[in-house]
Amino acid sequence: MSNPLEFILATLCLLASTGFGSGADSAGFSYYGNPATMGPTPDKWGDNPLWRTCAVGREQSPIDVDTKTVTLVINDIFGLDTSYFPENGSFFINSANIIQVKLNGEGRLKIQEKTYFLQQFHFHAPSEHTIDGVRFPLEMHLVHKSETGELAVIGIPFAYGEKNEFLATFWDKLPLLTDSNPSINLTYVDVREPNVHLRPAYARYNGSLTTPPCTEGVTWSVILGEANTVSKKQVETYNKRLPYPNARPSQPLNDREVKRNVFHGPRRKPHV
Ligand SMILES: [Zn+2]
Repeated sequence: MSNPLEFILATLCLLASTGFGSGADSAGFSYYGNPATMGPTPDKWGDNPLWRTCAVGREQSPIDVDTKTVTLVINDIFGLDTSYFPENGSFFINSANIIQVKLNGEGRLKIQEKTYFLQQFHFHAPSEHTIDGVRFPLEMHLVHKSETGELAVIGIPFAYGEKNEFLATFWDKLPLLTDSNPSINLTYVDVREPNVHLRPAYARYNGSLTTPPCTEGVTWSVILGEANTVSKKQVETYNKRLPYPNARPSQPLNDREVKRNVFHGPRRKPHV
């Protein structure tokens, strides 16, 4: 870049395009034990003046979901209100070493009359959210944005078990993502049931991006149960390409409430 102004403008554009929208595109930070990315580890993210929220925020993500203390939400018996469609996507590894599939924003998630559009999904290994203290080998984040810019993310933990057929539709392309081949076009991405299980239960809380700048105001829905599985071989495929963890440690709940939908039929007695 030939002059300083050009550099500043380019930097601002980069921040504008990656800082808030995706939640996983911000470069310049790293995770513990990850020598492949430069930048501070999670305990130092808040030292960057642009990322102060990572240190001082009171509603940060991820959290441990304690299913014994969550509050039941009795008016949401049918689970998450999503309408997704098969679409094409772009599969790549972003500058934070997070694998991501960018979509066209066609899928919808409705929360209390507000509609959020599915922008992308990406993966953390191991999981960022823990459930009753249990950490899973993999977690997928479906990132949605409303027309006014608010974010709603569905966090889906994958338990060890059967091979995941949804992941299998693009997972074997992971080794093909190289510097000379930075992205692959996926012609058919379908996150609908039964490819991705969003039922029966989820936990809802107010949190943040789990990557810098750790912006708050994100509505989280964390899928409970172990309906989504991943095989050891699929985790090995991931680790061969990305051998370092990319999970932010659990953040304090502070005075937040974690809610849970009631997923039994209306005539049955709800219980946790
Ligand atoms: Zn994420």
